[in-house]
Amino acid sequence: MAKLFAVRVTSLALVVVLSSVGSSGLWHAAAVPDVQAAIQTNEVAPGPDVVEIVTEVTGALPQTADPQDPPGSIRLPRPTSLPLNGPRKVALQAGHWLTREAPPELGRILQQTGTSWDGVTEVDVNLDIAGRVAALLAEKGIQVEVLPTTIPPGYLADVFIALHADGDGTGATSGFKAARSTRRTPFEERLMALVIGEYAAATELDYDQFGISRGMLGYYAMAWSRIRYATSPFTPSMILEMGYLSNDRDRHLMVDEPDLVAGAIATGILRFLEEHPRSRLFGQDLVLPPAPPRQPFPFPVPPPLVG
Ligand SMILES: [Zn+2]
Repeated sequence: MAKLFAVRVTSLALVVVLSSVGSSGLWHAAAVPDVQAAIQTNEVAPGPDVVEIVTEVTGALPQTADPQDPPGSIRLPRPTSLPLNGPRKVALQAGHWLTREAPPELGRILQQTGTSWDGVTEVDVNLDIAGRVAALLAEKGIQVEVLPTTIPPGYLADVFIALHADGDGTGATSGFKAARSTRRTPFEERLMALVIGEYAAATELDYDQFGISRGMLGYYAMAWSRIRYATSPFTPSMILEMGYLSNDRDRHLMVDEPDLVAGAIATGILRFLEEHPRSRLFGQDLVLPPAPPRQPFPFPVPPPLVG
């Protein structure tokens, strides 16, 4: 099954890369403020990919035609590729899975192969838990995909969660973390709150809100305006660092009690889906504010809602 996902995702990426060659000049000419701001952050070399992702995500160039939109904002038309009354769709990304098959554009990410401790490798844990969450959701009639490092460009789903585990090199640190990105759908704070609440209750691990890194907040798979291989800004997306593989207690949970860990994540997702029918997630355009100037790190992280 693992191979099947990989093949499908790889070939999709290839099709998009090939189809972009003829149109790149056009998109350069039509660059929008959001993308210009993303380029100015210098986190990714500017190129046709950066601008083109906007059109892949939305099917049309962003418009600010509505006079009520704030100045400088961009309006992304609501997605129509998933029927509003269709089965729900959830993606679990198994962090670091099949990174060796990822495209060269992912740059630094290709060097990030994950942590390991005491013979346990992060990617194996991520993949195992992702598969268990997927099985629990599939039982409820939900369409589930386990995704590798390479996310299909503009990936649209009702929920996306990237699963990772930490390591501190000493064994001292324990706890789990979660993050979402900015300039995306407004529903991600609630998704995070529900997953954090269920995860904390089931695992009894501490939630480490001060350990959240810049890498988590800017996680490439959520950075749709600068990375091609990211989820649509309409896809409620988050990253979950499930615990420290280097810590005995955390590792025991992830390795010896994976069903408890997976069950907590699945319950959080199910609660979110119940609260958020697809008509709510995809029923309206997304109006995003202008990109803020690049902020020094650490920038303030609001405390999570728990519920
Ligand atoms: Zn990781």
